[in-house]
Amino acid sequence: MTENEILDIFRKHSALLEGHFILSSGLHSDRYVQCALVLQHPRVAEQLCSHLAEKLRHLGVTVVAAPALGGVLVAHEVARVLGVRALFTERQEGAMTLRRGFSLDPGEPALVVEDVITTGLSTRETIQCVEQAGGKVVGVGALIDRSGGAADLGLPKAALITLKIQNYNPAECPLCQAGIPAVKPGSRTGKRSGDPMIG
Ligand SMILES: [Zn+2]
Repeated sequence: MTENEILDIFRKHSALLEGHFILSSGLHSDRYVQCALVLQHPRVAEQLCSHLAEKLRHLGVTVVAAPALGGVLVAHEVARVLGVRALFTERQEGAMTLRRGFSLDPGEPALVVEDVITTGLSTRETIQCVEQAGGKVVGVGALIDRSGGAADLGLPKAALITLKIQNYNPAECPLCQAGIPAVKPGSRTGKRSGDPMIG
């Protein structure tokens, strides 16, 4: 699968939107990624994640970890292809933790995967968490790296799609200045805000 074919899969499931969006951070953006819309189709999830798994197979891991919730399905599907365990970290009072009795062997080679890498922050926290539990993270994977490849984790990294998505402070957003109505994707109604959010 080429990057364009993968992009088409995301567009077909409305998982990659182009327009003018208000992100949950309050920043504005010209593109919006919602991996849950492709992952809701198990066959598509399997297809995408096996492609990602093959890019990381050479690292020889025995466990795949991901931060909940977004990464859970990706870890599970990648682990299925590699024939290894999948586990997830989750936030407890703000701190990324490994719960539910999950454990790693001392020095166990691990992958950390995500649906989307934005700044790399949650990936970094997950790496820390796995290493505190005794594992050795040897690589990172994501369906989409929306940092344009800028999120440097100091480890081998694979992504199916690398995009440079620009975020704007609302006061400086060129799309607002052009009078394009802003949309809050994934909101309860899924409807346009109808509010141009000028200024
Ligand atoms: Zn805007």
